[in-house]
Amino acid sequence: MKNIAVIGGGAAGLMAAGVAYENGASVTVFEKNQKLGRKIAITGKGRCNVTNNCTETEFLNNVVTNPRFLYSADSAFSPSDVMDFFESRKVPLKTERGNRVFPVSDRAYDIVDALGAYASRCRIVHETVTDIAAESGEITGLYVKDRFYPFDAVIICTGGASYPLTGSTGDGYAFAEKLGHTVIEPRGALIPIETDDRYDLSGLSLKNVTLNVSLNGKKVYSELGEMLFTHFGVSGPLVLTASSLMKHTPINDYQMSIDLKPALDLAALDKRIISDFEKYKNKNFGNALGDLLPIKMIPLVIGMSGISEYKKVYEITKEERLKLASVLKEFPITPVSFRPIEEAIITSGGISVKEINPKTMESKLVSGLYFAGEVIDVDAFTGGFNLQIAFSTGRAAGIAASLDY
Ligand SMILES: Cc1cc2nc3c(=O)[nH]c(=O)nc-3n(C[C@H](O)[C@H](O)[C@H](O)COP(=O)(O)OP(=O)(O)OC[C@H]3O[C@@H](n4cnc5c(N)ncnc54)[C@H](O)[C@@H]3O)c2cc1C
Repeated sequence: MKNIAVIGGGAAGLMAAGVAYENGASVTVFEKNQKLGRKIAITGKGRCNVTNNCTETEFLNNVVTNPRFLYSADSAFSPSDVMDFFESRKVPLKTERGNRVFPVSDRAYDIVDALGAYASRCRIVHETVTDIAAESGEITGLYVKDRFYPFDAVIICTGGASYPLTGSTGDGYAFAEKLGHTVIEPRGALIPIETDDRYDLSGLSLKNVTLNVSLNGKKVYSELGEMLFTHFGVSGPLVLTASSLMKHTPINDYQMSIDLKPALDLAALDKRIISDFEKYKNKNFGNALGDLLPIKMIPLVIGMSGISEYKKVYEITKEERLKLASVLKEFPITPVSFRPIEEAIITSGGISVKEINPKTMESKLVSGLYFAGEVIDVDAFTGGFNLQIAFSTGRAAGIAASLDY
């Protein structure tokens, strides 16, 4: 019987542990927190977007870094397999906008409990693993401080480096590096952006706008949706997704702008402005934009348009009107930095996929060493794809580690 250690009782670790036990292995899960699955409990704002009800191709299209590496693991344990897994464990699921899958109860704890039950026949040790031991290219066990525990195989499921209060403090990177693995520099992804604009727009949420991001004139991102201004800059779904694609440094090389009227091209927008100006023709310009913009944005847009707020609307020239329209189509944002990695939803970077077998998740450098979940250099957009990665790689590692060769 194989004697396996799983480091980390999160999404990947509990899946790996449960399946390895089912396959006849003796399994010990080391989890530094007193509770399992702390990060899962806060996913999806406490509702847990557990996977995405999509095809494998759509899944891979939503993986930002190293999608091809995930092909085997995801084919073997696809989003529909993940859904069957939870539904067969009495967690009914529902599919919402964007194929996002949640428990019907809207309780992330139902997912934590189901995974905890799946791994409940494993030994659970609430300790922090401090080192992994290998001899002649083979795993021999692990350490909790000075105490050595012998194992045939070790699965590193320690997560990334974001939201460290949940337990994921990047320990797995150090373990792997010490055993000769390459760690692609971890950085925050799905992360809010600090800006250099002196806008007083904190708390303003924009819906149905398009966020455009380009680098040296080349489009990097352009999507319609929602975003939010904060005290430090910008956040919200559009910004988080864009951040995952902004891998170039420095970040202030990117040009960002908001199309506040994405449904109208310049000509149609001009017509719309003409109609508003007709309505308010005897007012000052400063009092003529209430139908077009949220109140907080009006002083800013006026400043950028170069038109005096006291100018009578009937006096505004065609050139001035067109300039106003162009500001509405390209409201600028100046990115200066990402928020600290601690605030990132996920970590991009991690153990290089070149050194991991994509079918088994086993290290190509050390036999008996496996990786699963966010610790690997893979990351995806929001929508349930990151938990799907954790479940499919956890499953692959748990199955492979439990096999007797
Ligand atoms: C706020 C937030 C919301 C999110 N929402 C979603 C969502 O709705 N859908 C989605 O798909 N993804 C979401 N994610 C991302 C998702 O939670 C992660 O990608 C996923 O949890 C990664 O699973 P994992 O098992 O690799 O790591 P984790 O879930 O982070 O688990 C790692 C575990 O390892 C333990 N550990 C670490 N080091 C040691 C050590 N040395 N010894 C013992 N134990 C150790 C940690 O305590 C932790 O429990 C969200 C993330 C955040 C932060």
